[in-house]
Amino acid sequence: MKPKIDQEKCIGCGTCPAIDGEVFEMQADNKAHVKEGVDYNAHQNQIEEAKSACPTQAIEVE
Ligand code: SF4
Repeated sequence: MKPKIDQEKCIGCGTCPAIDGEVFEMQADNKAHVKEGVDYNAHQNQIEEAKSACPTQAIEVE
């Protein structure tokens, strides 16, 4: 399932794109964003890992 990032909570630490750069990317606003058009189900383990690792619990999985 596609993850969501609460932009209010994201502090731009860079952890989630370090875990899975195919799903998460930093953008010019210095916050992480979810890339479009990804087979999210194929990345479920990494998405869960990123969710657990996020220091501000900004990542939500629908
Ligand atoms: Fe933002 Fe959390 Fe990703 Fe860090 S791990 S960039 S705080 S969403």
